[in-house]
Amino acid sequence: MPAAVKQRVNPDSDLDLKRTAVLSDIRAATRRDLAPMVDRIDHGHYPADFLRSIGSRGAFQMHMAPDHDLGSAIEGMAIIGEACLSTSFMAWCQNTVVWYILNSDNDALKARFLDAASTGAILGGTGLSNPMKSMFGIESYKLKGTRTADGYVVRGLLPWVSNIGPDHIFGTIFEVEGEPGHTVMCLVDCANPAVTLKPCEPFLALDGTGTYAVQARDLVVSSDFILADPALPYVKKIRAGFILLQAGMAIGLVRDCLAMMREVAPSLGHVNRYLETQPEDLEQRIAALEAEVLDLARTPYDTSDAYWRRVIEARLAGGEASVAAAHHAMLHCGARGYVRAHRCQRRLRESYFVAIVTPATKQLRKMLAELD
Ligand SMILES: Cc1cc2nc3c(=O)[nH]c(=O)nc-3n(C[C@H](O)[C@H](O)[C@H](O)COP(=O)(O)OP(=O)(O)OC[C@H]3O[C@@H](n4cnc5c(N)ncnc54)[C@H](O)[C@@H]3O)c2cc1C
Repeated sequence: MPAAVKQRVNPDSDLDLKRTAVLSDIRAATRRDLAPMVDRIDHGHYPADFLRSIGSRGAFQMHMAPDHDLGSAIEGMAIIGEACLSTSFMAWCQNTVVWYILNSDNDALKARFLDAASTGAILGGTGLSNPMKSMFGIESYKLKGTRTADGYVVRGLLPWVSNIGPDHIFGTIFEVEGEPGHTVMCLVDCANPAVTLKPCEPFLALDGTGTYAVQARDLVVSSDFILADPALPYVKKIRAGFILLQAGMAIGLVRDCLAMMREVAPSLGHVNRYLETQPEDLEQRIAALEAEVLDLARTPYDTSDAYWRRVIEARLAGGEASVAAAHHAMLHCGARGYVRAHRCQRRLRESYFVAIVTPATKQLRKMLAELD
């Protein structure tokens, strides 16, 4: 267990003991079930069974405890990310849809979906990239809704939603026609006949993430699918959690890059020591990132500007550390990391995803500039 997580564990607390047990289950399942299939996932296999299996052991419930400390959930995704960024991202999708349901005031929706999503019985994701970019003036809302007696009728197309399939759900936001500034956050049931999932063209990596373009053609969103109306106050409540949970992907990937550097040190250390970045440098960088993220993760409902700035800066640091770590791991591994059979080239391809998934590096820099 990394030092930053160990320091936080209170051996007398039942909650901490439970979280520690879930984390060791995730580690065992990652070694036993996930590690042997990472190449298949890299080539497009969607690991639904693995997600359901860790879900049944509590992997998507750690952030539901009364203290709402997100640290253990982040550590769970980091453990998965040490082996596979795609699966760590899918675990983030699942943890995030649970975070949405948990924070909704809609009791009927919670009764229907919270248990099922948090145990992995229903898998799901989040289509918030377009709304998040729209909220920060980067693009316009792609989903539009019209009022009805019991909700809305929604139409439009989201270009990428991950961890979905024909019987999955995801959370998203649409803009209400004729009511500028009025947005609504809802769950979408992919089994609804008004929803079409279209396969995406192949990516650089992350092809096994169950990612589809989603078309909504007059989708009826009744009141029992509404997470928040209006969406904005609710978004302010969930936004730090949404972003902080993404840190698990970065931390896991960087830890594996560090491991690769160390693996080649016995045979290549005599020449690798001339490289600009050494394992100790990366170790310090990841320790600083983990400490900051875990501190922020204790208070995800803080809505102060100072806290929000730290969250954005930590997210930016995670994306930049991922790309840098994968780059330096490749320089340390050299030709042995450049062959297809070595994980170093997969980690390099995966690393860019952390920096481009919403909020992407460019959006984070825009957000920081606007906070100034
Ligand atoms: C593997 C993968 C999984 C993703 N999963 C999710 C998810 O689960 N939920 C979610 O909300 N978002 C998801 N996204 C979207 C992601 O979060 C970003 O929003 C997306 O990568 C675009 O960000 P950007 O910063 O490049 O946007 P910008 O640079 O602002 O550009 C985005 C715009 O460019 C256009 N565009 C970009 N690529 C293409 C293309 N190939 N063809 C046509 N137009 C294009 C589109 O209009 C798009 O809105 C995923 C993306 C990828 C690559």
